[in-house]
Amino acid sequence: MKKATKKEIAAIKALFLQHYSNAVTELHYRNAYELVIAVALSAQCTDKRVNLITPALFAAYPDVTTLATAKLDEVKALINTCSFFNNKAKNIIAMAQRVVSVYDGEIPMNEKELITLAGVGQKTANVVMIEYTGANLMAVDTHVFRVAHRLGLSDDETAAKTEATLVKKFKTNLHQLHQGFVLFGRYICTAKNPKCERECFVREFCKSTQSFKAK
Ligand code: SF4
Repeated sequence: MKKATKKEIAAIKALFLQHYSNAVTELHYRNAYELVIAVALSAQCTDKRVNLITPALFAAYPDVTTLATAKLDEVKALINTCSFFNNKAKNIIAMAQRVVSVYDGEIPMNEKELITLAGVGQKTANVVMIEYTGANLMAVDTHVFRVAHRLGLSDDETAAKTEATLVKKFKTNLHQLHQGFVLFGRYICTAKNPKCERECFVREFCKSTQSFKAK
């Protein structure tokens, strides 16, 4: 697949910033605790599903202190429509316990400490930082990966390498670009039948044959 030129990268960046200047996550949350839990649950699960699960979870465990002492089976029962709920239940309880014992009940808002929490990898930490603090970070999920490849911004095989490539190519406004790529991939440049002709505002830069198949 062809690679995007420097000029094309600049144009793609400008168009995404124009279309998604105020984009935020579609996960529902009211504070840092709820955001970390929602992002952790959203791995391999849709935001829609997570938003259906979290109201009851947060009603039962409104903060890290209550979640830290939760019974595993009760947490599992509340999140059992989410993929990998067994591990996720164990992780969010362990995460809450560490936040209580090490961080005095406050979610640490920096990547280094976030990734020490159970179930929080680099991508989850970056998503939390992007959303909560507007940090200049990129995180690559399935949508960002697909969009980056279709636009010739990356030919990397892994999400981690794609993230590094996008950081190198865009340098600034990474949090807005991340949010924009997620929404663009979710609603326009979808995996099947992307809306190339009707809704894509970067079609002229697309390197994917998908664009010719779309209706
Ligand atoms: S033209 Fe289609 S495949 Fe290409 S970026 Fe736009 S929506 Fe995605």
